[in-house]
Amino acid sequence: MTQIKELAGFIQRSKNTVFFGGAGVSTESGIPDFRSESGLYAAQQVYGNSPEELLSHSLFEREPALFFRYYKENLIAKDAKPNAAHIALAELEKRGLLQAVITQNIDGLHQAAGSKNVLELHGSNWRQYCLACGVRFSLEYIIDPANCKDGIIPVCDKCGGMVRPDVVLYGEGLDDAVVIATARAIADAELLIVGGTSLAVYPAAGLLRHFAGGALVLINKSETSADRSAQLVIRESIGAALGEMMKLL
Ligand code: ZN
Repeated sequence: MTQIKELAGFIQRSKNTVFFGGAGVSTESGIPDFRSESGLYAAQQVYGNSPEELLSHSLFEREPALFFRYYKENLIAKDAKPNAAHIALAELEKRGLLQAVITQNIDGLHQAAGSKNVLELHGSNWRQYCLACGVRFSLEYIIDPANCKDGIIPVCDKCGGMVRPDVVLYGEGLDDAVVIATARAIADAELLIVGGTSLAVYPAAGLLRHFAGGALVLINKSETSADRSAQLVIRESIGAALGEMMKLL
């Protein structure tokens, strides 16, 4: 409780606060982390590959049907709802207490909760585009087997090209504009709250090096590589921690 109070104090004093979140922010909405132990096991058992391989640019090009089967069955959680963490962050932004949310998740739950300034490092599964003509499509479009070759590979109804999700696959570069905006947001932050990530996943740890502000706060159930440089470490679920904190503001 004292730690939650301390976090509330940090937020009240900061003129520029940024939240950086990982998979842990979404798991509390029931979205499984495909990098978790059970995620790794399931991918290997059901699809015969690691998640990294299944979500790689090379497999996408080589075996699009396998890619889309794994992607649709494991990375789309259309009915997931924002949890206490998403709701708290949206509320902080509304009150002028949070300047940006940076996320490694692709589920759009921050926007669903009402956050406006969201930097999606790995893209979003709510956006799709045709590789041939660039036309954009909805998530519903690619889910509907009627729009898909063999019921699985989405095809553009304008030109017949393949439609892909606007997400960053392994082996693909991040969007430059998003990376630049993220680096700037972190560099300008006075308070940086990092939650739901072990910071092991590229490019999280590297981007945090841009932080030159006053206080770094880590909220994660397990230890992270940045614990020692943090002013405050909260070993709790991100939803519980932020939910509790909102009661103090
Ligand atoms: Zn097209």
